[in-house]
Amino acid sequence: MIYTILKTRLIPDTFRTTNAKIRCKPAQLLSLAMQKYYLVAWLVLSLSFCIGCNLTTVGNFGNTVIEAASDINIFTDAEELQFGREYAAQHEKQVRIHQDPVVTNYINDLGQYLVRYSKRNDITYTFKVVETKGINAYAIPGGFIYVHLDLIRAAKNESELAAVIGHEIGHIVGRHSMKRLTQAYSIEIIKQLILDEDSSEFKKLVADVLAAGLLFRYSRDHERESDFYGVQNIYDAGIAPEGASEFFETMRSLQRSEPSALQKFLSTHPMPNERVLNVRNQISRLPPKSGLRTDSSRFQQIKRRIR
Ligand SMILES: [Zn+2]
Repeated sequence: MIYTILKTRLIPDTFRTTNAKIRCKPAQLLSLAMQKYYLVAWLVLSLSFCIGCNLTTVGNFGNTVIEAASDINIFTDAEELQFGREYAAQHEKQVRIHQDPVVTNYINDLGQYLVRYSKRNDITYTFKVVETKGINAYAIPGGFIYVHLDLIRAAKNESELAAVIGHEIGHIVGRHSMKRLTQAYSIEIIKQLILDEDSSEFKKLVADVLAAGLLFRYSRDHERESDFYGVQNIYDAGIAPEGASEFFETMRSLQRSEPSALQKFLSTHPMPNERVLNVRNQISRLPPKSGLRTDSSRFQQIKRRIR
């Protein structure tokens, strides 16, 4: 169902045109794709482990429909980084990046500290603060994470902020954006995404994905998975995991007092009761651990600085 909606509403016209132009015979297409990072072989191999999964159509080889489960990522880390670098560069032309080094160094230090305890710490992460109004944080493929100034203002203590950053790292850990791309675009389009990063065609494709806003909408399953990674991450890093459930409470009270500030956050991070219950449940099952940190004087200094 999700795939149908994406197909009809989100795929930019340029993609449809590009897609329509590629009319290879099955054998030719297969050969092309095999040459390109063994993409198809990888996909078929992945599918063989996915019998019974929720399958969606990715492309066609003649009469053979190629389907992928919504949870398949066909991109390598190198391709994700290539895509992410260009996506971040284009995105940063559209937002104002906060420049105060006292604030940005703090967010970067906290982010890098959490990355060390995350389940994907073999890539380079970049943390930036943006001045866009509203409470929000988001991740871009390849380890680029952005935190709104207003979100830092809203968090009551460092563990709440760490929980949000841990959640965003969770999207990178789960490679959720790349799974969205795999799910939403046909195999011909995906091949186009793996072009030389200096080519204008590649930049245009990234611009189209950015304009479609596809990567800022995750499925409920991906949100659930990121919540799980986030809670585990901050706990492993010695930060009180209760920050995750407390931040939900902070959001709820802001929803009542300042609904407009939360509009963007809620559009990309639906907050059904199920998420709150899952997080509480996970926290209650974590083994007791002494010395978990809830706050820091540095966080409170930053809060005062950006008041
Ligand atoms: Zn999320």
